[in-house]
Amino acid sequence: MYDGIFPSKYSWKIIIKKAVLDLDKQRRCDHLLTNVSLSPILESIIQVNQPSLLWSVAIQNPVLLKLCKSLIQMVCFWGSRNWISQCNQCNKLTDKIIEHRLLYCTEVEEIRDKLWCYIFTSYSTELYLNLINYSAVDQCVWVIEQAINDLLHKNDKNMAIFVRDLCDLI
Ligand SMILES: [Zn+2]
Repeated sequence: MYDGIFPSKYSWKIIIKKAVLDLDKQRRCDHLLTNVSLSPILESIIQVNQPSLLWSVAIQNPVLLKLCKSLIQMVCFWGSRNWISQCNQCNKLTDKIIEHRLLYCTEVEEIRDKLWCYIFTSYSTELYLNLINYSAVDQCVWVIEQAINDLLHKNDKNMAIFVRDLCDLI
């Protein structure tokens, strides 16, 4: 291209596709890494130059592989998406699909009620009362972070299953 010869149509498509995809990939990566809300969650699952801690859990207990995969997909989905998508449960359009599913979607109310009952009975009442006063984003961060930490440190998958069932996006 720099020698004055325009590339073939095929080569030009590859150049454009690579330039657009690489740029988009970099933007999504930057968005994920600079998202302050997500940092507690990312710190729970990401280690520098190491596989995610959730993969270690999955290796030790292969039964949990699908659950760990769902959690990682959900965190990446949340961190990298900042465009409008349609909820596959209630068909509403939203640019905050994870918040929508965890907190507002009318089609998964039953699962959400079970999650909040579980939080109320399994953690302290004081924590529950504080939690309901958190912002929507902070509630989501707490729920996901707790689900991951329970799985990583207590081998307790209850919260993770609720989160997976609520956010079954793909
Ligand atoms: Zn919905």
